[in-house]
Parts: sequence; structure tokens; C-alpha cells
Amino acid sequence: MDPITMAIASLGAARDMAKGYLALKDEISRQQFAIDMQSKILDAQSAALDAQVVHQDLLRKVERLEAELSSTLDRKAMIARMGRDAGFYFLPGDPDPYCPRCVETEQKPVHLSKTGMLIVARHEWRCAACKSTFRQEANRFKFQQDQGAGT
Ligand SMILES: [Zn+2]
Repeated sequence: MDPITMAIASLGAARDMAKGYLALKDEISRQQFAIDMQSKILDAQSAALDAQVVHQDLLRKVERLEAELSSTLDRKAMIARMGRDAGFYFLPGDPDPYCPRCVETEQKPVHLSKTGMLIVARHEWRCAACKSTFRQEANRFKFQQDQGAGT
């Protein structure tokens, strides 16, 4: 039983017991009633504390998921603005290419870094996130020339 259901059940049991109090005729029955009632109230308090912990955990989870959703929506909006050139992704006005693997498979815009390696007249680019490497013949991409960046 989850803590919230447990707290409600304990309070319900205490309420039902309280209805029977007036029917009690002798002092011993009333004292036993008070002890039983105290026990039910302690159960309800304990269950309420557990429910509060669960509630706090759920609030934190909702906050984390809302932040994740917001970040995902920001990334998707960023990717929607990108252009594609020679298999790489670019943002207007940004001369550095984005990793095609991360953009296409993870929906994650991650810049590539030029490694400085020139292999058979091809520059090597590396993604810091997925560690993929890519080679590009020209030093400049057509997209960069169209955007007037990357001189
Ligand atoms: Zn990548």
C-alpha cells in the first residue's frame, strides 16, 4: 500500500473508532479505547510522514522532468534552424559544424572540433560527445561561404 493510501486508511480507522467512543459504558473500556486511538493516530502520523517524503520526491522528479523537457524543446528548436552541407550541420552565422551523428541520432547539437590532422588532404573533425571523427576535403564548407562566415 502506498503511503498516501496508508495515511488515509489510518485516519479512516481512527474516525471509525471515534464513533464508537460514546457507546462505551465503563472506564476500563474508555482507557483501552484511548490507547487504541493513540496507536491509530501514531500509525496515521507515520504514514503521513512517509507520504510527505514520497510527495517531495515526486515534486523533485517533476522539476527535473520539466527542466529536461525544456532543454529538449530548446535543442529541437535549435536543430530545426540548422542547415546541412557536405553531411555536416550548421547554424546560420556559426562557422563551426555540428556532429551529424549527435544531431540525427540523439537530437543533440554538439560542435565538432578540428583535430589539426590532415589525412590525404582531408581535415579531421572530432565530436567531443560521441567521439566520432569525420573528414572533410575543403577547409571551408559551402554553407559557411553562403553565410559569409568561416573566413
Ligand atoms: Zn557526436
